[in-house]
Amino acid sequence: MRPELVKTLAQIVGDAHVYTGSDRVAPFVTDWTRRFGGPCLAVVRPGDAGEIAEILRACAAARVPVLPQGGNTGLVGGSVPAAGGNQPPVIISMLRLTDLGAVDELSGQVTVGAGATLGEVQRHAVRAGWRYGVDLAARDSATIGGTVATNAGGVHVIAHGMTRAQVVGIEAVLADGSVITHLSGMLKDNTGYDLASLLCGSEGTLGIITAVRVRLHRPLGRTTVSLIGVGSYAEALELMSRAGIASESNAPGSRLLAAEVIDAPSMDLVCSVADLPWPLEQRWSIVVLLEIVDGGDGSGLPLDESADAVVAFSASDQERLWAYRERQAEAYGVTGVVHKLDVSVPLSKLAACADELVALINTLPDVDTFGIFGHLADGNMHVEIVGPAADDLRADLAVLECVSRYGGSISAEHGVGRAKAAHLHLCRSAAEITAMRAIKGALDPQGLMNPGVLFV
Ligand SMILES: Cc1cc2nc3c(=O)[nH]c(=O)nc-3n(C[C@H](O)[C@H](O)[C@H](O)COP(=O)(O)OP(=O)(O)OC[C@H]3O[C@@H](n4cnc5c(N)ncnc54)[C@H](O)[C@@H]3O)c2cc1C
Repeated sequence: MRPELVKTLAQIVGDAHVYTGSDRVAPFVTDWTRRFGGPCLAVVRPGDAGEIAEILRACAAARVPVLPQGGNTGLVGGSVPAAGGNQPPVIISMLRLTDLGAVDELSGQVTVGAGATLGEVQRHAVRAGWRYGVDLAARDSATIGGTVATNAGGVHVIAHGMTRAQVVGIEAVLADGSVITHLSGMLKDNTGYDLASLLCGSEGTLGIITAVRVRLHRPLGRTTVSLIGVGSYAEALELMSRAGIASESNAPGSRLLAAEVIDAPSMDLVCSVADLPWPLEQRWSIVVLLEIVDGGDGSGLPLDESADAVVAFSASDQERLWAYRERQAEAYGVTGVVHKLDVSVPLSKLAACADELVALINTLPDVDTFGIFGHLADGNMHVEIVGPAADDLRADLAVLECVSRYGGSISAEHGVGRAKAAHLHLCRSAAEITAMRAIKGALDPQGLMNPGVLFV
């Protein structure tokens, strides 16, 4: 049956777009973290929704699981097959669906293919005099479909919301090969369940997103970016709060666009890996990055004379300061296999939770290095732990349980994937999980859409 299926796939997309040899499939079967990966039956590269519908029908008939993949930058193991899985999936690579539609000037919306990268969509919007509201460091590999499937966050959530807030329409292929298309992008459309919203954050478990219509934003005007040293998470939050107020009162129309946080171990690591100088006069336990729309004159910054800060006005200087934050994932990546915990807590509890996490991880066995960086404005901490073996999950569980005690989320923006599927109960009630399973069962009765992701 399986070689037959591969032949059928080749008839659908053409021989050149079906990979089976280990060299050809290698980039698709191991994830960005190198922590997750497993065998696949084949990688298939369809060119449109019609081909994807045929592929899904063929896989359903053969009872073979499918795994949609975008840029393979996901960090929770959902974009690659399970290790030692007894039913290797067909990986459906979305990278040929790269259409960029014309920007609709009246609505400020655009329809793009799921395989277009985030960076391509951002530049397409800018060329038309608009901007796309989501940004993250993996922008030149991550696809729009992947960012919708994970409901990606990134650095501008405080200004524009997460990916779900950008999506106004979707086209997707369901497990039975039916195509749902709802791309008109009308702001008012109360005609039943919002399937686009349901597919946001579904991580390939409900359907394959083939095109997305997103809202764009008008350019915001000039910004300032600053790095500021503080002594604690409590001070970081206080600074951010003052920045929000200052940016609104000092320069009318201005606003806080990003508020990020990097602790001293993470600063030390990125300085050494990326060969960057320590940017401030003193060594601080926490460095805050603020990006403020304030006409580019610094009038939105909440700094008094004693502040240890560096402020960038030009684009190149701003890029230089952003590197301390944007190169964190890469910096930890060179230290080995990293246990990456992406968590969030209510802002009012962030300082206490972060302090407890640091104390807790210091007591855990086999930890060589750890640090915290993240999206302060969103209560989102990326806790990176190096030392424990890839399959030693004690540190992961300790962090997730700690966050759960503070009423937080075990996945702020990366999704649940395979990495956290067993821990969903830490932040979702039994009733919620039952409802989610019912939706999954209704849309994917054979359980062939990315099995092992989201639910164990
Ligand atoms: C350096 C770095 C920085 C990052 N920073 C951030 C950040 O700031 N914020 C953030 O949220 N994430 C961040 N990420 C994580 C990652 O970039 C996002 O999760 C991104 O949305 C994944 O997009 P992708 O195209 O690479 O998807 P993949 O990794 O290929 O897939 C991710 C999941 O989505 C599913 N999927 C992919 N495409 C489709 C589709 N068309 N239809 C249905 N399901 C699909 C997959 O099955 C999988 O479950 C970062 C990653 C890296 C490496």
